[in-house]
Amino acid sequence: MKKPFVSLEQLETIAAQYPTPFHIYDEAGIRDTARVLYKAFAWNPGYREYFAVKATPNPQILKILKEEGCGVDCSSLTELMMAQRCGFAGDEIMFSSNDTPAEEFALAAKLGATINLDDISHIEFLKDTIGSIPKKISCRYNPGGTFTLGESEEGFQVMDNPGQAKYGMTREQMTQAFRTLKELGAEEFGIHAFLASNTLSNEYYPALAAILFRMAVELKEETGCHITFINLSGGVGVPYRPEQPANDIAVIGEGVRRAYEEILVPAGMGDVSLCTELGRFMLAPNGHLVTRVLHEKKTYKDYIGVDACAANLMRPAMYGAYHHITVMGKENAPCDHMYDVTGALCENNDKFAIDRMLPEIQIGDLLVIHDTGAHGHAMGYQYNGRLRSAELLLQTDGSVRLIRRAETPEDYFATAIWD
Ligand SMILES: *Cc1c(COP(=O)(O)O)cnc(C)c1O
Repeated sequence: MKKPFVSLEQLETIAAQYPTPFHIYDEAGIRDTARVLYKAFAWNPGYREYFAVKATPNPQILKILKEEGCGVDCSSLTELMMAQRCGFAGDEIMFSSNDTPAEEFALAAKLGATINLDDISHIEFLKDTIGSIPKKISCRYNPGGTFTLGESEEGFQVMDNPGQAKYGMTREQMTQAFRTLKELGAEEFGIHAFLASNTLSNEYYPALAAILFRMAVELKEETGCHITFINLSGGVGVPYRPEQPANDIAVIGEGVRRAYEEILVPAGMGDVSLCTELGRFMLAPNGHLVTRVLHEKKTYKDYIGVDACAANLMRPAMYGAYHHITVMGKENAPCDHMYDVTGALCENNDKFAIDRMLPEIQIGDLLVIHDTGAHGHAMGYQYNGRLRSAELLLQTDGSVRLIRRAETPEDYFATAIWD
């Protein structure tokens, strides 16, 4: 059973001050997740998590993660600017983008970020843009073909199989890219790959690590490049459904350590640092979307209309993603009613749940939609003039802080030309 990190009583107090819908994040949960992750990789010298900013681009969340020792993984100009404003610099910033505009490489280089090249043609493009090749550089690998290990149906829609995914370089291009970068003055090399999204398997990271470690040994032999870091990227998933087993990050860290000792250490590469760019694993379970029931409508089905919509959480509409729902105050009531839980968009896919068995719902009930802390508010949009909600932080002392106000109609109108 999934248990909300706030009680009904707490939520009613919060909702009296900040009207629903809103996203709320659990500071204690975020800090715990970061600590458990760091413990799992404590064996590796120089290990660092670069939180994928796109998952939850909120400065207060980034600051909490910074205090826990995390860097940030950015993939756009505004994400780089946010990282800079939050005080991240140099080695604390990873820039893993694709189809990258010149100005983004320019800012990444200015901030001293580690640039992760998505394509071999970007070497020339980067050199032309910033005038030289940075001493420290990374290349993104795509092994092609198919990769099946614990990815969910929905994860498949995010990433596709490597052979169909737009990201990264072929094996031959990796060798060529390293040779060219070395000729152009690069001294420290990294390797990155992201093969599957939202994996529920303790084997994903170890399998990916083994692929990258073997390639690192080959690349070192072929090119003589000094490989100093390997980036396992994102993709460690969370159990969105209550019956799914959670990943055990300690077991995952141990599996990666085994591959490291079997492959890298014997090749004299026992000084390679590892990094990760987790977004979902870090934040998803530490966020709820809180919404109130406005209407019940009975036609061919029984619909519960809430005050949130797909503009606040796009994943169900976009991927058919499951998000668990708790009807607050009815945690122990039998789930003997079947509902579609819908938002107000003029789009029939604006449904948080379809044919979901829930306790009997009354108008005015508060619903917690679980696991919305990553790729939730971040994916918000303004279709139908529905505006993005506030974001709140449940702090470790139990108090609640507004960390992003709700958009107002004036925000929505601000970019229009009126006469
Ligand atoms: C989206 C993304 C991540 C984070 O993915 P999660 O599924 O949230 O772990 C990491 N790295 C890159 C380059 C990404 O695009």
